[in-house]
Amino acid sequence: MRAAGRGVDLHTHSRVSDGTESPAEVVEQAVKAGLPAIALTDHDTTAGWAEAREAAVRTGLGLLPGVELSTRLGWRSVHVLGYLVDPEHPGLVAETARIREARRSRARRIVDRIGVDYPLAWSDVLAQTTPGSTVGRPHIADALVALGIESDRSAAFAGILHPRRGYIEPHYAPTPQAGVRLIRAAGGVPVLAHPGAAGRDRVLGEDVVAELVDEGLFGLEVYHRENTPDGRERVAELAARFGLAVTGSSDYHGSGKPNRLGENTTAPEVVARILAEATGTDPVAPGA
Ligand code: AMP
Ligand code: FE
Ligand code: FE
Ligand code: ZN
Repeated sequence: MRAAGRGVDLHTHSRVSDGTESPAEVVEQAVKAGLPAIALTDHDTTAGWAEAREAAVRTGLGLLPGVELSTRLGWRSVHVLGYLVDPEHPGLVAETARIREARRSRARRIVDRIGVDYPLAWSDVLAQTTPGSTVGRPHIADALVALGIESDRSAAFAGILHPRRGYIEPHYAPTPQAGVRLIRAAGGVPVLAHPGAAGRDRVLGEDVVAELVDEGLFGLEVYHRENTPDGRERVAELAARFGLAVTGSSDYHGSGKPNRLGENTTAPEVVARILAEATGTDPVAPGA
């Protein structure tokens, strides 16, 4: 699974959300990395699919169009990957639009607060986004870097954007249960992203995982650099306990994160099961 020869990288981001490359560039980088296929999973949007599809057909890369849905359980942010959803499913279209709008107004409030203490304006953040893209803390980080206030994204997240500094706030998001249900309703296949990132003791409890399984959860992203060693062990235990599929990915964000394409991948058998279960949209087969 880990960096396996012909594994598929099932989690990547483009500029349509908080990656730093266009969807076509992400595809081209995946070809360079020698991957057979990737999933493009921008936060709360499918706006990068058409360009990625075109690039995949042109280069012969396999493509699973996907989305990373922002959900929340109490104080906890939970990301749900949805593969091969119908991008025109009315419920999904409405919910992702609502989340993107909530992200935008939240980002504006965060910027207003930071702007009291630092020379940061909303226009500086907008300058770091492409029109219609999903706005997040990474774009605020990029603006702080462009202004010379922070040195890079990671430093901004450890500095001004760290929750303990008091500038950030959460945004509206559906529950993970609703998110998993919505992805299935849209014909997609739901997988929990980096569920072990906060360590073993903060992995979702068995009661919640059982509810997610009831809603149609397909798998757990075990192989992801942000899962801690003991978090990953716990997530693997949950996958075994509930008979869930195990996936791996890079969560590539271009130059916005150190994560490299293909650093973790998903076994071809698991990808085949995703393709078999999905009904929302067609993938691009490698060499198509
Ligand atoms: P938000 O959803 O707006 O709260 O921002 C969270 C996003 O920021 C995640 O999707 C990550 O891609 C990104 N992120 C989190 N931590 C870091 C970091 N240390 N460096 C760069 N990007 C990060
Ligand atoms: Fe991200
Ligand atoms: Fe995520
Ligand atoms: Zn991601």
